[in-house]
Amino acid sequence: MTASEPGAYQGFEQGPIRPPSEAASLLLRVTRNCPWNRCRFCPVYKGERFSRRPVEHVLADIDAVAYAVFRLQHREEEASALARERERSFPHLPGQDALAANVAWNWHHSGMSSVFLQDANSLAIRPEDMIRILRHLRDRFPWIERITTYARSRTLARLTPEQLAAMAEAGLNRVHVGFESGADEVLRRIEKGATKAVHAEAGRKVVAAGMELSAYYMPGLGGEDLWRANALETADLMNQVNPHFIRLRSLAVSDYSPLAQDVADGVFRRPSDVIQAQEILLFLESLHGITSAVRSDHILNLFQDLEGQLPEDQERMIAMPRAFLALAPEQQRLYQVGRRFGVFMGLGDMEEAQRRSVAERLVQRLQVDEHNIDQIVDRQVKQFI
Ligand code: SF4
Repeated sequence: MTASEPGAYQGFEQGPIRPPSEAASLLLRVTRNCPWNRCRFCPVYKGERFSRRPVEHVLADIDAVAYAVFRLQHREEEASALARERERSFPHLPGQDALAANVAWNWHHSGMSSVFLQDANSLAIRPEDMIRILRHLRDRFPWIERITTYARSRTLARLTPEQLAAMAEAGLNRVHVGFESGADEVLRRIEKGATKAVHAEAGRKVVAAGMELSAYYMPGLGGEDLWRANALETADLMNQVNPHFIRLRSLAVSDYSPLAQDVADGVFRRPSDVIQAQEILLFLESLHGITSAVRSDHILNLFQDLEGQLPEDQERMIAMPRAFLALAPEQQRLYQVGRRFGVFMGLGDMEEAQRRSVAERLVQRLQVDEHNIDQIVDRQVKQFI
């Protein structure tokens, strides 16, 4: 096969995104783009077609990284064997893979403990293909502690408990699922392609299969009219599923998402930071009887330092949005500007004189007041999408 023939292996690939918690992971592309691609808030893969990469290509990517890692580990014989194998299988590709070498170098220096399978829904491939990939990863890198992926609820709900258990057995030990909301009206409106019941079934299946479930909640997604439902129904969903991790990732409306048109048409209004703080407070107060770890590790979040273990840290976490809501309006705006411009991570940073003075200068320079604060925040969060 030549490089120009359709379907020929072109070398190591990476997709555009990963969860924040996978910053140190090896990113391995199993599928390209998103098979659903309709969520109105999501700009990531719009205009791109979904495809499954041939399993042999994914295995070749693993070997390209393995070659570079073995060289870094001075395992020259094993590296040479992989190089010969690559020359036999892909004679159209000259030399070693520069991107794979670069990725391997970074992964090697990050400890090589985890792998994240890309893109948006890796479990859309046949379970037996996934198991081959997982086994190959384990075979080449037996020290890996964690293999994770994004998956859609609808896909998870369709898999049998046996298929999920077999993938867990082969090494897939964490799944990131974008619930976004537990409110059916919100899910319908943003075209998530799943209901609360489907999310619950998917989440329970992941947990029952012995994998860790990392479930995402998007404060703000209900807009100004459905923020209460977004908080209450999502908390109820989390209470039903008891995921290992609840991760907050607040809504930001990208200009490249269909939701931007909804905003322009006046059918959707992004809630202000003050309403989002009320929503987060209501959500946290409504979590009961679960043992999840809560994380807010996203730059878009109003309280990036909001994290803790349920149930023991619930009151401490609740205190954060409550403290923000108790601030005087000009202090709230100072925090918002400081937070959105990366000066503050959390409310405690307002006590640091240097950070506070940077935020105060920003407030002055931008001439922030009660009329323009929401526009300033909207404009700023878009920088981080
Ligand atoms: S499933 Fe995920 S990647 Fe696909 S459109 Fe929805 S949010 Fe975006």
